[in-house]
Amino acid sequence: MRISMVSEHASPLAALGGVDAGGQNVHVAELSLALAHRGHDVTVYTRRDDPALPDRVRTDPHLEVVHITAGPVRHVPKDMLLPFMGDLADGIVEDWGQEPPDIVHGHFWMSGLAALDAARQSRSAGRPVQVLQTFHALGTVKRRHQGSEDTSPSERLMLEAMVGRSADRVVATCSDEVFELKAMGVSGSRISIAPCGVDLELFTPRGPVEDRGRAHRIVSVGRLVPRKGMDLVIRALRDLADQGRDDVELVIVGGGNTSGLEDDPEAQRLLGLAADLGIADRVILRGQVSRAEMPAVLRSADAVVCAPWYEPFGIVPLEAMACGVPVIAAAVGGLVDTVVDGKTGLHVPPQDSGAIAAAVAEMIADPEWARELGDHGHRRVRARYSWSRIAADTERAYQSALGAAAPTQPATARRSAARRLESTGGRAL
Ligand code: UDP
Repeated sequence: MRISMVSEHASPLAALGGVDAGGQNVHVAELSLALAHRGHDVTVYTRRDDPALPDRVRTDPHLEVVHITAGPVRHVPKDMLLPFMGDLADGIVEDWGQEPPDIVHGHFWMSGLAALDAARQSRSAGRPVQVLQTFHALGTVKRRHQGSEDTSPSERLMLEAMVGRSADRVVATCSDEVFELKAMGVSGSRISIAPCGVDLELFTPRGPVEDRGRAHRIVSVGRLVPRKGMDLVIRALRDLADQGRDDVELVIVGGGNTSGLEDDPEAQRLLGLAADLGIADRVILRGQVSRAEMPAVLRSADAVVCAPWYEPFGIVPLEAMACGVPVIAAAVGGLVDTVVDGKTGLHVPPQDSGAIAAAVAEMIADPEWARELGDHGHRRVRARYSWSRIAADTERAYQSALGAAAPTQPATARRSAARRLESTGGRAL
């Protein structure tokens, strides 16, 4: 198949850990590469946010990243990008020329708008394209949790529901998202599930381990935004100290940008909280850590703690499990599917630092059991969350959209076409 990915703010080439660069960047990069390895021709369209970026970057014989000028050529926070989606769509259509792809796959609601617009322009020129949509995060959920703090454009909820109802197929990343999509009016028959995956060659149980002292160590990784709940983990450390466990340190990874953590207000808030609670010496903010260094940091942990208020999917628990490290996760969103309570880690209620402290204490008290949890986690991700498997799941969603797009054929012809597609991995198109 010829596949166009649209990822307006999340470039697969961007550095991770900043405010707007996280799981979506990883997802688009890895899914695109895995699809390219399956023989599809993939082009990722993303917004040019730096004048130094070349127009096109080929990262694999079957994979190219194309920078489209849409809005100011500098970093613009994602919540301010909506006005430029028309330009993004026009740039994509221009790049397609006479040869549009079979599939255009929007990532995040605004890319969905650009994908639908581009497909509409192509269809009206007699060149049909199927539109797939992965939301990564839903405005309804964000509004529920962040209330007036939510900086998304006011049109988001209405436009997001429109994208969900207009795309030929919606790919949800977890079962919780399926419920949310249905509540938005997306018909269940047009929803497929394909979770995020993890790079099983990079994230492995064996390999370098970051040096650490004698203290037990918990690690939390994520963009430094309040909803990631890093403050809850700091409070849990205080709770542990109150119970006599002052031999635990917390390493927080993420946040900052090229100028470091000094200019990062959330980093400063977290450091202030640790100081107020009297545990500043045991809370280490590492700032951004590169992909290459991440496994060594994860392997140095007794447990990785993920304490978000809500989480559309959450790739970090998969990365920890792939490294054989047990995970303590708030039972929200994608973490309900990925972490198996009592088997690969422990679930805790959201926003409950006391429960995090109890879970950490339980794991530290029984290292044998904690190791077992880590082993099970590793086996689970190997069996279910390789990117090649996720690419195959996604390919099936593409095939469903393409199969449904041929209504003029008699049903028997459609069925045999679908079988042909299945047997060729879709390449017959
Ligand atoms: N990440 C990273 N360096 C950092 C912070 C985060 O490489 O300093 C990566 C992390 O390993 C994971 C991704 O960014 O692959 C975060 O994805 P997740 O789905 O957990 O959260 P999101 O940022 O999408 O909300």
